[in-house]
Amino acid sequence: MPVEIRIPTPLRRFTGEKAHIDVSADVLEGALTALFSQHPGLKAQLVDEKGGIRSFVNIYVNGDDIRFLEGASTPLAEGDKIAIVPAIAGGSGALSREEIARYSRHLLLPEVAVAGQQKLKNGRVLLVGAGGLGSPAALYLAAAGVGTIGLVDFDVVDESNLQRQILHDTTTIGQPKLVSARRRLEALNPHVKVELFEERLTSENVLSIFDGFDVVLDGTDNFATRYLTNDACFFLKKPNVYGSIFRFEGQASVFWPEKGPCYRCLYPSPPPPGLVPSCAEGGVLGVLPGVVGALQATEALKILLGTGRPLTGRLLLYDALELSFSELKLRRDPACPLCGENRTITGLVDYAEFCGLGRGDEPPAGAEITPGELDTWVKRGDPVELIDVREPHEAAICAIDGARLIPLASLPERVHEIDGGRTIVVHCKSGARSARAVALLKQAGLTRTYNLRGGILAWAREVDPSLPVY
Ligand SMILES: [Zn+2]
Repeated sequence: MPVEIRIPTPLRRFTGEKAHIDVSADVLEGALTALFSQHPGLKAQLVDEKGGIRSFVNIYVNGDDIRFLEGASTPLAEGDKIAIVPAIAGGSGALSREEIARYSRHLLLPEVAVAGQQKLKNGRVLLVGAGGLGSPAALYLAAAGVGTIGLVDFDVVDESNLQRQILHDTTTIGQPKLVSARRRLEALNPHVKVELFEERLTSENVLSIFDGFDVVLDGTDNFATRYLTNDACFFLKKPNVYGSIFRFEGQASVFWPEKGPCYRCLYPSPPPPGLVPSCAEGGVLGVLPGVVGALQATEALKILLGTGRPLTGRLLLYDALELSFSELKLRRDPACPLCGENRTITGLVDYAEFCGLGRGDEPPAGAEITPGELDTWVKRGDPVELIDVREPHEAAICAIDGARLIPLASLPERVHEIDGGRTIVVHCKSGARSARAVALLKQAGLTRTYNLRGGILAWAREVDPSLPVY
């Protein structure tokens, strides 16, 4: 019987761009065999190793799915029209031929398979921060085929980021992190849509940014943004995949409203500013965010797939020096002001104030001088006592000539060493620790004390470019 087989657009490259192939057969199987003998390249696309029709391909005879007819034995009559409809011709979430090839190692996993990969393709994950944790998380989520990846960040790529922020590279130093990130993610996987939010996350914009996403991945480096992320996820009922790193230690958990505790159940209030140093002050092993960020990406994928046991109600602790993982049980705190029984937080608050900071995470302002002003004072021969309150290992990297090293922690017991008859200028790396030192020295009666604005980094930039920076 002469019958006609309609070839869908994506498969026409195997038929010399022909849209219709005429064959002669009595049953469907015979028609396909005739088709494959004319166009052998089609067979591998439509038939699996066992000779069956691939699960993402449907075949219709005169508009009826052969699974509801007699399958491969469906009889054919003259003039019948056979249509091959692979999932690629379908609607939202369907995988293209290229995507099927790219994600083949996922498609082989029963826990993912085609249906799971389509969930990932329809999935939307927002990364708060495109830095140490956001880098590996974004790369793995993009590689895995998460359809939409949102990034919130307003920083630019600095040379000192590259020791761990593998989303960026030497050629993107000085560029906005989001521009650098998008370039890398699109090069890695052009099937992924990257949405950029180049702004500081605030109480005003957080709900509208988070609202369009299924999962939020917290890769921030400051407490104000962490509490803001936690609270916004609670109000929007979105899972918050938490990760944090410091020096050689990492933490991870999933705070999922209505399923488990929140970040405030774990830490009701942030430490006072300055007690816990940031990575910029305390340092971090470059590969550490790689481990923790990859764990966060794993949790985000599991949530999108709806498979496995998420890290909800558990706090994972990772110690890189010991190479140990340990797990603590987290329970919802009945007294939690956000998700507890008597809630006192019913809306977003001022997070900078909550964390004891001035607006914008800046250290409390004191008397400041610029590097240019200090340079003028020194060149003029003014009696200036320059105090460096960084750690000795930082001073070993670079130091300003004539500065005396008194690490911030030992300043209270060494105040007497400072000559109160001179003008005192205090500096650190970027100005935060020295601002605290200025406050301390003023309390001790040394009123003619100034903070070097921007620290040694600003000094290197504006006065002495020969200094190495870190
Ligand atoms: Zn809570």
